[in-house]
Amino acid sequence: MSADLTIAQALRQALQAGLDRVDAHLLLGHVLQRDRSWLIAHDNETLSPADQTRFVGLVHRRLTGEPVAYLLGEREFHGLTLQVSPAVLVPRPDTETLVEWALECLGACPAPQPRVIDLGTGSGAIALALRHRWPTAKVTALDASPPALAVAAANAQRLGLPLRLLHSDWWQAVAGETFDLAVSNPPYIAGDDPHLPTLRHEPRQALTPEGDGLDAIRAVVSAAPAHLAPGAWLLVEHGWDQAQAVQALLRQAGFQSVQTRQDLAGRDRCTGGQCAPQIARQP
Ligand code: GLN
Repeated sequence: MSADLTIAQALRQALQAGLDRVDAHLLLGHVLQRDRSWLIAHDNETLSPADQTRFVGLVHRRLTGEPVAYLLGEREFHGLTLQVSPAVLVPRPDTETLVEWALECLGACPAPQPRVIDLGTGSGAIALALRHRWPTAKVTALDASPPALAVAAANAQRLGLPLRLLHSDWWQAVAGETFDLAVSNPPYIAGDDPHLPTLRHEPRQALTPEGDGLDAIRAVVSAAPAHLAPGAWLLVEHGWDQAQAVQALLRQAGFQSVQTRQDLAGRDRCTGGQCAPQIARQP
């Protein structure tokens, strides 16, 4: 870029280089610590050379496929601003489907302080959204990645939403414990999925368990009955073409009322089932 560009000129150059308009505004707003309406109202102002250099650097990184969330260091999820780094998957709006369903389950749960577990929490997105919307919930969040747990811990601290965070390979750290609701957005992309290279900036272990993409869901589902109270729900996010397979896994594990919900684009996205409710004793 040449010297003394105005905001309008810098944005135009970024668009000409191939950047999406919304991304260009977000990145320049991040450099200037201003929002989009400010940029639009001040687009005749000149950028300092330092700001121009920073903007050009971010534009280049975005053009090579780095997620905007990593460049900004944050992403909004279910009304919360979460800090994210390349140690964690970028929270997706599709995952809000799982949060909404989990909130319905909590609404129907008789426990005054429901014990909730989020398996593979990453940035803490699902666990924090549930703790935010259901303040009496006692939320445990697990992850196998220590750097991801550090991100989740920092988010919990900054948002003032306490979580119990445990380093765990799926259920391993909670042996002998029982929960009223379990949720998980595990890695579910098949190891040879052609979509994976486009996600190369995100942690591979958060995206794929390798193989057919179902091994992490198998681990979550198969051990779930031993950790769930009677009547508790298990809700799992999965790929658009995995609903039948996940339904079968839940039924094999003894879950009832097995059903699938769609994301905002109408694709199958979450499947859940309920543990058999306790049989009421005859008087
Ligand atoms: N939904 C993400 C994607 O396909 C993957 C998330 C995941 O593997 N849990 O981009």
